[in-house]
Amino acid sequence: MKKPIIGISSNIGTIDRGPFQGLERLFINKAYVDWVAKAGGIPLMLPILSAASDIRAQLELVDGLLLSGGQDVDPSYYNEPNHPLLGTVARSRDDYEMLLLKIAEEQKKPILGICRGLQLINVAFGGTLYQDLTEQSESHKNNHLEGSHLVIFEEASPFASLFSREVVTTNSFHHQAIKKLASGFEVVARSEDGVIEAIGRSGGNWIFALQWHPEVDNNPLAAEAIFRAFIERAQVKPARFSHKKQNPFLKLKRS
Ligand code: MN
Repeated sequence: MKKPIIGISSNIGTIDRGPFQGLERLFINKAYVDWVAKAGGIPLMLPILSAASDIRAQLELVDGLLLSGGQDVDPSYYNEPNHPLLGTVARSRDDYEMLLLKIAEEQKKPILGICRGLQLINVAFGGTLYQDLTEQSESHKNNHLEGSHLVIFEEASPFASLFSREVVTTNSFHHQAIKKLASGFEVVARSEDGVIEAIGRSGGNWIFALQWHPEVDNNPLAAEAIFRAFIERAQVKPARFSHKKQNPFLKLKRS
């Protein structure tokens, strides 16, 4: 079977030293690339563009979309003024990824969101964010590569079956979290202090998003389960499947 191509949205930053100092650069952490490849996909970095027609053409090349981590989403996207503890925003990246997500949704591409990716998905579908976690939880432990806190899955969620255990320990790099959940989505998991750590949507095309970073987590089994589930979805092509049913050649072969 042909390996699915996974588009990974790129981050934007400014080079801070050397001959190209001051120039903007686009980049992704290699850990995303490694995990997509390990789970059976072909990773493809998606540079930031602005024209919708170009973004549509980019997405036509891929079978699934991975929205990567990074800056805070501009709060103007959910009609809130900037909080004093709002982090760095990257408006060109927000504008790009909002269009990328909208078009991927139109094209029914499965979507995996990680950290900022989860926040972007929630905002794009009408939800809001705590601009800094202190607004929700003073005790949320962050910035530990080793497990920072427990994540407890909602038993009833079909996405919880992705994981072999009901509780996993995860890293935690985020300083924002979901305030109002976007409609159509369900909470898949929360940390002990109630912070939403994973969401999913089973109606429509497959969307799953996590607040932690499975690609650098010290629990490779959980990371593998997530990336494999995503790659599996990207391998399924609904159009091809329905076409198969009506393919007269196949009928002929069978009789
Ligand atoms: Mn967390």
